Amino acid sequence: MSLMGQMMQMPLLISSLLTHAARHSGDTEIVSKRVEGDVHRTNWAQLAVRARKVAQALARLGCQPGDRVGTLAWNGYRHLELYYGTSGSQLVCHTINPRLFPEQIAWIVGDADDKVLCFEINFLPLVEKLLPHLGRVQHFVLMAGRSHMPASSPIPNLLCYEELVEAENGDYVWPQFDENTASSICYTSGTTGNPKGAVYSHRSSLLHAFGAALPDAMGCSARDVILPVVPMFHVNAWGLPYATALVGCKVVFPGPHLDGKSLFELFENEKVTFSAGVPTVWLGLLTYVKQNNLKFSSFKRTVIGGSACPPAMIRTLEDDYGVEVIHAWGMTEMSPLGTLSKLKSKHESLDEDSKRRILEKQGKVIYGVDMEIVDDDNKPLPWDGKASGNLVVRGHWVIDRYYRNDRSPLVEVAGLDGQWFPTGDVAAIDEDAYMQITDRSKDVIKSGGEWISSIELENIAMAHPAVHEAAVIACPHPKWDERPLLVVVKKPGGELTREQMLGFFEGRIAKWQIPDDVVFVDELPHTATGKLQKLKLREQFRGHQLPA
Ligand code: ADP
Repeated sequence: MSLMGQMMQMPLLISSLLTHAARHSGDTEIVSKRVEGDVHRTNWAQLAVRARKVAQALARLGCQPGDRVGTLAWNGYRHLELYYGTSGSQLVCHTINPRLFPEQIAWIVGDADDKVLCFEINFLPLVEKLLPHLGRVQHFVLMAGRSHMPASSPIPNLLCYEELVEAENGDYVWPQFDENTASSICYTSGTTGNPKGAVYSHRSSLLHAFGAALPDAMGCSARDVILPVVPMFHVNAWGLPYATALVGCKVVFPGPHLDGKSLFELFENEKVTFSAGVPTVWLGLLTYVKQNNLKFSSFKRTVIGGSACPPAMIRTLEDDYGVEVIHAWGMTEMSPLGTLSKLKSKHESLDEDSKRRILEKQGKVIYGVDMEIVDDDNKPLPWDGKASGNLVVRGHWVIDRYYRNDRSPLVEVAGLDGQWFPTGDVAAIDEDAYMQITDRSKDVIKSGGEWISSIELENIAMAHPAVHEAAVIACPHPKWDERPLLVVVKKPGGELTREQMLGFFEGRIAKWQIPDDVVFVDELPHTATGKLQKLKLREQFRGHQLPA
């Protein structure tokens, strides 16, 4: 007979994070730049009270355990109150990406079957427009005070968030329930077909928060001031709403104000030490600081992920601004953290260039996630840093299946235990277990039976001083099947010809991998989460004639 452990049984519930932060870091600030334009200050203790009032208010509206509550909101304290008020009271927080096409938003709200929809004032016109398609939503809540309520609206019985909160007394005890209960839903951006829902549990979210806070992950501490640029509607802002409560640090929310100037001012005024976001937001911030000859006084580290961070961006942030870049990889289906790039102690003695080459990779997994690369028959490939194949993962915070879809997405891997989630990414893993993404399987360029990494070509182009942004897509080719086409946005005032750009690749990559052509454009299309939209770009250049 085995001996059972004799420790307390406490379910891993999201509400416990907030209770912890309120009890032990109650006076630590939460600062939000609001949609309304002003800066709002609260702290973990006050936020916990208001989150309990939100739970009471939602119960008063008739919400039952398991009901979904949709949010259309920027990063801010009210959104955080909803995160905790919903999940904490056994409701499911459904964060919706407002940058999706309106039809997709309506589809997602319907698929999730949101009972309540909470949204900020700038999304009022959107919700009014979508109203005919939101038939199953029972309550609409405008996340604002009475003075911002519209005099009239086609939305029947539009509720005022502040009034709902103020009507409650906060005398509420977070219920205890099974830690495997759903806490939130996030939809993938659905670059092909309809978006798919990933349903997180309390347990997966808590374990992910522990993992995220570790020193070799985001390394969050009570001494940090954390500004999540990554939106709370994008995979729970990479877990920061939970990890910040777990460590009890100060949090700064930028609201919708994500331009370089607003971000810089907020970083400086609030003494931000740590941030996280996709590469495109840092492009804007870096352009602003450079143009104005500014330096950061408190900003020390940032996680960059969501799409490949160009090495040139890492260099600029580290060498010119003293900001450590932690390159990270993950996806909606993984809550999202998979790998982060931090050195091992055996790397400490390497020269700077060798260290950097390691840190430019997407990194090593944190405990809780395992990964493997496999060939098309799901047989593992060697970890030699050269062989690249389909990346599969498994772990405590990786989805088992998609919402409302009984077909398992998982695969078996020859010789390994369990079932694995195929990420759709192509990667290599080196001898030290560092993973490097070569491409998304649908973006890789197949030239004469060989694969060319679009990311590698983009990284080279981005290192040219006159290049602001670059994308590489496959162009059909009569002989080679596909050949790379480089699409470039020049920096303001940047001088660059097609020949100069192509010449820049010489000696930096094998000759046969150099793009066949370069096109200059004013702007590249981005997805709702700020990533390059290759599908759209491929459509845009469908008829493009490569030079003979
Ligand atoms: P969506 O699929 O909705 O765009 P995700 O945010 O889930 O949203 O995107 C996950 C994908 O983003 C990954 O599968 C990978 O292709 C890409 N990605 C994320 N981080 C990185 C990174 N650091 N380098 C390269 N690609 C990345």
